[in-house]
Formats: sequence, C-alpha cells, structure tokens
Amino acid sequence: ATVAQLAEWNGTGATSDGHRVKVYGNVGSPADAQAAADAGAEGVGLFRTEFCYLDASDEPSVAEQRAAYTAVLSPFRGKPVIVRTLDAGADKPLAFLSPEAEPNPALGVRGLRVAFDRPEVLDRQLEAIAGAAEDSGAEVSVMAPMVATVEEAAWFADRVRAAGIARAGVMIEIPAAALSAREILDVVDFVSVGTNDLAQYTFAADRQLGAVAKLNDPWQPGLLRLLKLIGDAAKATGKPAGVCGEAAADPRLALVLAGLGLTSLSMNAPAIRTVGASLATVTLAECEALAEAALATSDPAAARAAARP
Ligand code: PEP
Ligand code: MG
Repeated sequence: ATVAQLAEWNGTGATSDGHRVKVYGNVGSPADAQAAADAGAEGVGLFRTEFCYLDASDEPSVAEQRAAYTAVLSPFRGKPVIVRTLDAGADKPLAFLSPEAEPNPALGVRGLRVAFDRPEVLDRQLEAIAGAAEDSGAEVSVMAPMVATVEEAAWFADRVRAAGIARAGVMIEIPAAALSAREILDVVDFVSVGTNDLAQYTFAADRQLGAVAKLNDPWQPGLLRLLKLIGDAAKATGKPAGVCGEAAADPRLALVLAGLGLTSLSMNAPAIRTVGASLATVTLAECEALAEAALATSDPAAARAAARP
C-alpha cells in the first residue's frame, strides 16, 4: 500500500469490498488502553491482566482488582474488550501463587493450569472482571491463556458463565488446541490465537531465545497451516477467531490472516492504523489468494514473497 492509502483508514476494519476484520488493541495498563483508543482501536482483543498482580506480595482483593480493571476498560465504554485471565507460572512467578521450581517452566503449570489447583483465585478474578464490566460499560468477554484440550475449554467456559459473564473464549497457543479448534469452538463463544506461544510450542523454540528466533518467524508455513485450521473452524461454526500475537501487527501478514478466515486482529497501538489501512487496500478474494499462495510455499521468505499483493 502507498503512504497515501495508509493515511486513509476510516477506523472500521474491513477489506475494500466490506468484509469485516476487526482491528483491536493489545493492552496491559490504563496508559496502553488510552493509547489504543487514541489510535482508533475498535476494541481490545487482549487485555493482559498480569500487571495487576506482578508487584503484589498477596493476592489483590476483588475490590482492588475491580478498580484496576475498570481503569483499563474505561476508554472502551460500549465497545468489545477481551479480558484474559491471569497468565502466570514458574516462568512469570507471582509471590502469592508460590509456584514450585520446574525444570521446564514453559511446559509446566502456567496459564489456566494454575487455576486447576486454585480455582478460587480464578473465581475471584472473574468476580472482579464482572464488576469492572458494570463499572466501565465495556462489552466484556473473558478468555483463558494456555488451554490445551476441549475439556479445559469447557471447564473454563462454565466458570465464566457461572460468574455472570456472557461471553467465554480461550486462547489457542498450544498446537493441540489448534488441531482441535473446531471442537473447542463448539464449547466456547470465540477463540483468539496467541501466535507468540503457538510458534514457540509448534517449533519447540523458546520465544525469548535469539538463537532460535528464525524458527519463531510467524511466516513459517508450518505455522500458517495451523492458522488455516483455526480459520476453517471459525467459518464452519460461524464463531469469531482472532489473532492477538505479534503476527497480527504485520500489515502484509494481516492480509493472509484475513484470507485464512480469521475474524479480528489485535496488536499494540502503533500498528493499528497501518494494519487497518492495509486491509482496506484489498478485497477478501485477494486476501484468500494471498493466503493460498503463502500456504503453498516451503519457507518464510517464499511465503512473504508469495503474499505480495
Ligand atoms: C501469545 O502468546 O501470542 C500472546 C498473545 O500471549 P503472551 O504474549 O502474553 O504470551
Ligand atoms: Mg501467550
């Protein structure tokens, strides 16, 4: 897209022929939320709630959590916001959850797995989120990180609904969950793909380790093929499947993701206008052709080249 085209985004994520692909912000603090709103985000696709806990030696009270979440949600009154429940573990330790040291923290008790032993911590967080939804007027959905199976997704959705929150989803960031996207969508209202972790677990390559960064390239055809399964599941069920990992911030990959059937893209504030404008330069059929071309390649460089509009 040219610079002139990029300046023209009208704030509604869609291809030039009107196929909606919502453009959302990733946030982790009130300042992030304001920046996303100022950049024109249509809502929030990932609110990382860890910020509220990181410096706490004890679990924050429901009232403290409710106030902290309300401060983040307030710029999005009347708009959709996906709040992610606590994503902690031995790799992101929290004093009050005192995780055991683990030999492989990325493969250990992290994300939703923490809640299986301590469901009351999850329930208190859900109570605070439900309160913050009321206080802020945002249209709140809740999703869980690090879900591996359909059974886990159903367990989480039941607890979310018991807390009086209407929409429950899960992140797809474990390959087994991507392979079961269809069955998972049967038990939740939406999914959102965390491409950072999905790449890490697909390629068995630590996302924080520079030496294996080449494997974590979101243009890897092996990752695109998993994303296609998720897009196909969204089409088959008519339920939303977004992307909230870094991949969504790449304006060319955004076209491929739209072509694969993903329904929203969520990113840090600086990428919002560029991605919104990029989508507006192509039709859905063009996105589908780019996706097909990228899927037919054997390496990331070829996928990038094939997806040039
Ligand atoms: C991801 O894994 O892609 C993701 C969005 O979650 P986080 O980066 O917080 O692990
Ligand atoms: Mg993740």
